[in-house]
Amino acid sequence: MKTSRFQIIPLPTEIADAARLAAKAGAADHALITVDSPESSPCRHCLRWAQPGERVVLFPYAAIPSGHPYSETGPIFVHANECQRYRATNEYPADFRNGRVFRAYDSNYNIIDAQVMNDSEPEIVIESLFQNPDTEFVDARSITRGCFTFRVQRA
Ligand SMILES: [Zn+2]
Repeated sequence: MKTSRFQIIPLPTEIADAARLAAKAGAADHALITVDSPESSPCRHCLRWAQPGERVVLFPYAAIPSGHPYSETGPIFVHANECQRYRATNEYPADFRNGRVFRAYDSNYNIIDAQVMNDSEPEIVIESLFQNPDTEFVDARSITRGCFTFRVQRA
């Protein structure tokens, strides 16, 4: 399904590359991990599940920058080796059609709404959050672990 009215924003390549360099340099808060089970480690750069045997970098990412009441830094994965940034930004990423919660933020980074996808198509949940004119962006997160997965903006 095409997402006519919104755009998927994967993690910027500069951030993924910086995390890979920091992990190679042995930064204490950047862990190199070999994935051992499927659908455990979503890469925020290519927006795919890392496959068992692939290596990922686990590091803290400030999805909501500091200086706001809802500031939030949390753990995310990227592939340890170079991967292609998700390009189909007008389509909801196929690997994450389940297990996401969507948080709507206003332009001051305040959470103004949140919805679990339940049995709905994710596109429908996202469209409904953008029906509020105050919604500046929507963040997709893991329902179970709460980790940031990707951002969605108006097209
Ligand atoms: Zn990747």
